[in-house]
Amino acid sequence: SPQRPTAYPCCVGHEIVGTAVRVGSKVSGGIQIGDRVGVGAQSESCLGRRGDCEECASGQENYCSKKVVGTYNSIHYDGSKSYGGYARYHRVPGHFAIKIPSAIPSADAAPMLCGGATLYSPLKHNGCGPGKRVGIIGVGGLGHFGLLFAKAMGADKVVAISRKMGKKEDSLKMGADLYIATDDEPDWATVNARSLDLIVSTVSSTKMPFNDYLGLLKTGGSFVQVGLPEDGGLFAPVRSLMRRLKLQSSLVGSPNEIREMFQLVSEKGIRPWVQEIPMKDANKAIVDMEDGKARYRYVLVNE
Ligand code: ZN
Repeated sequence: SPQRPTAYPCCVGHEIVGTAVRVGSKVSGGIQIGDRVGVGAQSESCLGRRGDCEECASGQENYCSKKVVGTYNSIHYDGSKSYGGYARYHRVPGHFAIKIPSAIPSADAAPMLCGGATLYSPLKHNGCGPGKRVGIIGVGGLGHFGLLFAKAMGADKVVAISRKMGKKEDSLKMGADLYIATDDEPDWATVNARSLDLIVSTVSSTKMPFNDYLGLLKTGGSFVQVGLPEDGGLFAPVRSLMRRLKLQSSLVGSPNEIREMFQLVSEKGIRPWVQEIPMKDANKAIVDMEDGKARYRYVLVNE
């Protein structure tokens, strides 16, 4: 978390797929020993145990008003530390272990548990589907899920927005109907003004043409920021008030949304673009990812 220093010892990893080897006596939800299950960025919430959490009572555990427990570097409600998935075993409250449908390969499922859900949730929440024109800013580890899902959800038009032309071909293969390269097409903001109902931005820097992005929305359109800039704020009110825009942000997805996402992926045969790498090369994978080499997600595999 950007707000909190690491509490060592720490084992990272928050998109985990494995086989259930032990199931507690109070686990509900039908997970059996031997089932293939996944855990995302969240491994616990209050679950309404104290009866006063509207979020957990309404299936929005990812916005729990008491405490969202991260899958690593966090403290469980029983006081124990959470340790992530770069490990042979993982222990998690059963509510946050999600069964993986048999049609989805493990390497595909893993990066959807956080990255996929982070795009699926705001698309669903904002009615992505027929009648909507949807833009995804940033074609990377997060954004590529946005293109795949928006297409599968039946949006009228899916627009990939990137800086350079380099990812155009990939984006069209992922389902984009149109590709905008903001560095390479000087007129992009005027040519495409008011052409979208919904934008999900995965950009994690404030050095982006935020006002011009807002200009792509029609009146009453929605802009959802899921990338988390570490270099300052984003909000610029003028363009948004001129069009009564809805500015939102969004944090991962609830267990039910993750199940819905897997159902969509299973039904539509969605294949994320992943590259499998042995767990022993984890350090190299991180360096390559920072260098922008991932196309589009690295998946670490335990030997
Ligand atoms: Zn709660």
